[in-house]
Amino acid sequence: MKSLPYFCRGEVVRGFGRGSKELGIPTANFPDSVVDNLPADISTGIYYGWACIGNGDVYKMVISIGWNPYYKNTKKSMETHVIHKFKEDFYGQTLSVVLVGYIRSEKSFPSLEDLIAAINSDIEEAKVKLELPEHIKLKEDNFFTSTTNSNKAIQNALQELKGNKFVLIPVLGC
Ligand code: ADP
Ligand code: MG
Repeated sequence: MKSLPYFCRGEVVRGFGRGSKELGIPTANFPDSVVDNLPADISTGIYYGWACIGNGDVYKMVISIGWNPYYKNTKKSMETHVIHKFKEDFYGQTLSVVLVGYIRSEKSFPSLEDLIAAINSDIEEAKVKLELPEHIKLKEDNFFTSTTNSNKAIQNALQELKGNKFVLIPVLGC
């Protein structure tokens, strides 16, 4: 996927009561505005990467990008599980994430236990893969310390332009 690593941030909004917290795996949901800006080559499925809330520490994460049944399968959602135990919820705060690598496509599971086992195995895979030097350096990226969106937004936009094979034509006299 050409768009990886993919940087984005947005407010944490309420999900639709799937009870993921009760399963021990809460997922912080991004608003539609963030989901709608995903580049076309970011397929649905499970990714691993880095995440931070506000200006806090950067933690490992897994993120699911997929079709939310509560939107009658017409609306994609992005849900991040941060691999850290927080004392409090962080609804309304800014979540910054960088998607680093792809784990697997979306699947449905025969039982809740199978789903939980799959997510736990995704989490273990994320923990190991993110230790690779090329991935660990993204944890230190200034995206997580800068307060504006601008740099990465421009980089994401340029990457998309490259993907679409846009060509810059030099204009004589300029
Ligand atoms: P919702 O349906 O509102 O998304 P969840 O049960 O998925 O509810 O819980 C998500 C919320 O839990 C997040 O929005 C966040 O405020 C909180 N939370 C606490 N710990 C974590 C964590 N480690 N990763 C993600 N969200 C967490
Ligand atoms: Mg959720």
